Amino acid sequence: MANFTFKDIVGQEMIKEQLQGAIANNKVSHAYIINGENRSGKEFIAKIFAQTLLCEKGETDPCCECPSCQKAMSGNHHDIIFVSHEKPNTIGVDDIRDGINDTVFIKPYSSNYKIYIIQEAEKMTPQAQNALLKTIEEPPEYAVFILLCNSIDMILPTILSRCVVLNMKPVKDEQMREYLMKDMMVPDYRAEICVAFARGNVGRARSLASSEDFDKIRTDALSLLKNIYDMEIVEIMEALKKIKEYSFDINDYLDIMAVWYRDVLLFKATHDMNHLVFRDEIQNITKVASRTDYEGIEEVIDALSKAKSRLSSNVNYELTMELLLMTIKEN
Ligand SMILES: [Zn+2]
Repeated sequence: MANFTFKDIVGQEMIKEQLQGAIANNKVSHAYIINGENRSGKEFIAKIFAQTLLCEKGETDPCCECPSCQKAMSGNHHDIIFVSHEKPNTIGVDDIRDGINDTVFIKPYSSNYKIYIIQEAEKMTPQAQNALLKTIEEPPEYAVFILLCNSIDMILPTILSRCVVLNMKPVKDEQMREYLMKDMMVPDYRAEICVAFARGNVGRARSLASSEDFDKIRTDALSLLKNIYDMEIVEIMEALKKIKEYSFDINDYLDIMAVWYRDVLLFKATHDMNHLVFRDEIQNITKVASRTDYEGIEEVIDALSKAKSRLSSNVNYELTMELLLMTIKEN
């Protein structure tokens, strides 16, 4: 991690206010939950908060220079502990015992705080949560627990009642655009696509903006959408194989398609090209917008999200994509 401070967190004003306020007023809680979708930046916030708590300057932003900050930035701070788990899809009671309960009463090495960060906290079994609860109920003075989770429904009410819950909010398009163009030096035509694709999620915007395959993916997805009406099944299946070769997530590929279809829908409704993401594709957008009725466009958008959920529940890739592309072809 480079020299990041609270100022580098895009959006999330409420969370920043709350965490920095707690530090300023000396009212840091023992337990926090940062709740929000994957890639929205929860871990980034947790790391900055932890680094600030341990910083030797003791201010509301980390100095990024003291020995403690240096250690935190290199990921080697003894008093910032990432609780790991052995099985990928579940955090069991042993993970909590080994990772937290067995060491929590050992005082911090060099700081006033000892911070435990639990990633994917929604994966804790009820037994694991009960084991954690015992510690959160009577924590040593110096302990701070930060639970990162993407669905708060999985957390027991007994835990929730002892945590300060911080909910991640979608970042405004305007703010996202500025971040991409100023901080990430993304050119404007590309930023526009990333913003639409990200829907308020910084990590999604970053992954698309920084993907080496960006131009390839964009070109391929659009050429598929352009030509699909004239393609034979064999050609479509050939295109499918190509999609699979990207280092990029297939869901993201589908999302780019969805952005394009939202453009089609928007253009059909308004005949205004100024608000389109793929303005440079106006000819093709006009073509599809005039040949497809509203129902058809919605059917395709619907099919795109269905394909995503099928793939995430491990339905056969070829079958799912074939169904999707047939729906596109028919509309
Ligand atoms: Zn420092």
